[in-house]
Amino acid sequence: MRNSIQRNCIFEIVNNSYDHLNAYQIYELARKTIPNISLGTVYRNLSLLTDHHMIRSFIVDGIIRYDRNIVHDHFICDKCKCIIDIPKNVDDNNKYIDGNLVIDYDIKYKGICRECQRKE
Ligand SMILES: [Zn+2]
Ligand SMILES: [Zn+2]
Repeated sequence: MRNSIQRNCIFEIVNNSYDHLNAYQIYELARKTIPNISLGTVYRNLSLLTDHHMIRSFIVDGIIRYDRNIVHDHFICDKCKCIIDIPKNVDDNNKYIDGNLVIDYDIKYKGICRECQRKE
């Protein structure tokens, strides 16, 4: 995949974030570095980066979220809709589970997060 300044910028935003951003949020962050970037460019590069497994995407309530491609699962709270990273037991380079190479994964746990349980 050919490198471009725009794609690198989008990759860095997703790869440095723990917030499970959607495309529009990524677009707004990218504009701080590249003011004239278009939403279409952001979408195009997000799907390219996802296709090349440099980042990952998953859908919550119909909205695509983008994430670092480091193996972990997600817990999604039914009440406040927060998305919590669940670490997974993988080896050093974060790509193998029991010797099996992981290229894609989409495991979601749903429930009530700690905060919401406390409020009840
Ligand atoms: Zn919650
Ligand atoms: Zn995550």
